Amino acid sequence: DLVYLNGEYVPKSSANISIFDRGLLFSDAVYEVISVIDDRLIDMDRHVSRLERSLGELSINAFADWTAISQYLVAENKLKEGLIYLQVSRGVMDEREYRWPAPDTPPTIFAFAQERALLENPMANRGMRIITRPDLRWQRCDIKTTQLLYASLMKMEAVAAGVDDVWMTRDDMITEGTSQNAHIISSDGVLISHQLDRRILPGVTRIEMLAQASAMELMVEERAFSIDEAKNAAEAFVTSSTLLVMPVVEIDGHRIGDGKPGDQTGKIRQNYLAAVQRASST
Ligand code: PLP
Repeated sequence: DLVYLNGEYVPKSSANISIFDRGLLFSDAVYEVISVIDDRLIDMDRHVSRLERSLGELSINAFADWTAISQYLVAENKLKEGLIYLQVSRGVMDEREYRWPAPDTPPTIFAFAQERALLENPMANRGMRIITRPDLRWQRCDIKTTQLLYASLMKMEAVAAGVDDVWMTRDDMITEGTSQNAHIISSDGVLISHQLDRRILPGVTRIEMLAQASAMELMVEERAFSIDEAKNAAEAFVTSSTLLVMPVVEIDGHRIGDGKPGDQTGKIRQNYLAAVQRASST
């Protein structure tokens, strides 16, 4: 397996990083996960835009041809379906210190490819089961940092409860899943999705999903929705680069609709997949 580290492609066993890397000591780092389907990067331009925004918000100076690196890893590793992980940290310090190192300190940039079945996910047929928990993350969830401890703890709560994921809440309003954006379709057919603000990650998949929903002439409202509203919804689903559009059939033990993946959700998933595969092949 070849990976990318600071300008070079090396075998994964020889890709080593300093213990004084700020990504390791302070999670002073941002990342992207890009899906690969039929050996093509999905929605790469939007991932690059978001990466550049995350870097800008944290004043990390890093420039690289993100697309070329990702394409090279797909080709060299003969990746058909899976993902590319890209991470950028503020770089290495001389000693442990909160203050940033000199601005000319090189960032640490690495990337790797990972095989994973994305299209044939059994969850698409059975739907996800969700529990809700308070969202105790920091208030800049719009930046895609590697500070993922709380999300990881919540994932383990889901595992312990025998369900698939957690939807996190602030003041009883759902923000998002541990690594997905959360959406519902109300009984009168309105798609409701949390507005873009500092409480959620601006999902790349969410953008194209909303475009497809509008093309299907679904009404869309971008606003927060409550746990009760979600429980009473006709359909619920999540979006993310690796789950694509994935139905949700249960929230806190309460069945959504008839407890089966929703029809509209299924159509959105199909149309989303058709759109991104068309776009990635040009
Ligand atoms: N929300 C969070 C907290 C995430 O970590 C992710 C992706 O990993 C998403 C939403 C979905 O974003 P995207 O569709 O860009 O993968």
